[in-house]
Amino acid sequence: MLTTLISHPSCHEHQMPDGHPECPGRVDAIANQLLASGIDALLYQRDAPAVTDEQLLRVHTAEHIQRVARAVPQSGIHFFADDVYLSPQTLTAARHAAGAGVLGVDMIMRKETDAVFCNVRPPGHHAERARAMGFCIFNNIAIAAKHALETYGLQRIAIVDFDVHHGNGTQDIFLDDERVLFCSSFQYPFYPNTEIDDVPAHIINTPLPATCRSQGFRDAISAQWFPALEKFKPQFIFISAGFDAYIDDDMSSISLVEQDYAWVTQKIRQLMDGSKKFPEENQCQGVVSMLEGGYDLLGLGRCVLAHIKALGKLSS
Ligand SMILES: [Zn+2]
Repeated sequence: MLTTLISHPSCHEHQMPDGHPECPGRVDAIANQLLASGIDALLYQRDAPAVTDEQLLRVHTAEHIQRVARAVPQSGIHFFADDVYLSPQTLTAARHAAGAGVLGVDMIMRKETDAVFCNVRPPGHHAERARAMGFCIFNNIAIAAKHALETYGLQRIAIVDFDVHHGNGTQDIFLDDERVLFCSSFQYPFYPNTEIDDVPAHIINTPLPATCRSQGFRDAISAQWFPALEKFKPQFIFISAGFDAYIDDDMSSISLVEQDYAWVTQKIRQLMDGSKKFPEENQCQGVVSMLEGGYDLLGLGRCVLAHIKALGKLSS
């Protein structure tokens, strides 16, 4: 089955202050790398629809959505919250970024594809139910996961988050929802300094020392994520795909390389493929991966390329 790439032109129109790392060039860097590699021709490519209010309200409070909408400026760039800025097209971009994941779920459930990457911004995993923070306005991955749960009646969903920062928003949203196994690896101590210890068993937090590098990352993931995922038998897997633990990314010190992202993605893909031997209710229908962080533009393109190749079992 073909792998799908979902994006939207508005994701380029969400502006940040000059020199800010979460810049429009990130989506271009990914698109250009996919084009240059030839992988782009092997993918279904779809434009993201805007998320609906009903889909947004499954995750965010009405007050949060209205506060963002009211604060969007007519021109210029407006400081909104902890490292969150709004520009005239921000709400449109945020709605399409969230809509990308929803379309990904729909395409997989219609059996049109089994693996989706969403090249979208603003990112989402720091956005809590009632709070924008850390470049994130709406929690894209949580909105997609809720769509899979509520629209398709799935009972067990996994969200894996290998961004170098903890997915505090995703933890906040699913803290009381045992249908969702949330696995997050992150440099620690580090932003956003979430309380990570006192959490229920369906939240697996994997703090990584700043010095851990590839082997430390792989050892921790192998020990903590995959046994839990195999036991949980997710019917759908979501990936909060952040590439800011990359060796050339100024944001962090963990120093992962392209092959680490290929490795973790292959493991996830194998988990999905391996589930096909199970009865229908224990099979994994597909994987939707959504861009989170990743700020070294050349490295970001290369890491996403490695990720998509592993996701779709593609070679070029
Ligand atoms: Zn990050």
